[in-house]
Amino acid sequence: MVRKVADCRRFPSVMNCTLTISGEEDEVVRAAAEHAVSVHRHEDTAELRREIRATLQDEKVLAYPMSGPPPPEGEIFDL
Ligand SMILES: [Zn+2]
Repeated sequence: MVRKVADCRRFPSVMNCTLTISGEEDEVVRAAAEHAVSVHRHEDTAELRREIRATLQDEKVLAYPMSGPPPPEGEIFDL
């Protein structure tokens, strides 16, 4: 299955935070919500979690094995 990535840099209200969280979708939403509350002083609401879920992207980098040929050019940082 494809893991999901939440990247704080993509979250509109956030500045200068580079945290990324990856895992199964529900794990990421939960962890990102807790991060948003503890670090960014958001309120943990259904709306916040809905916005987080909307920003999730498929994780691609780690879909490639650590050994073996590198991923095709252009996909390495295409998170
Ligand atoms: Zn953050």
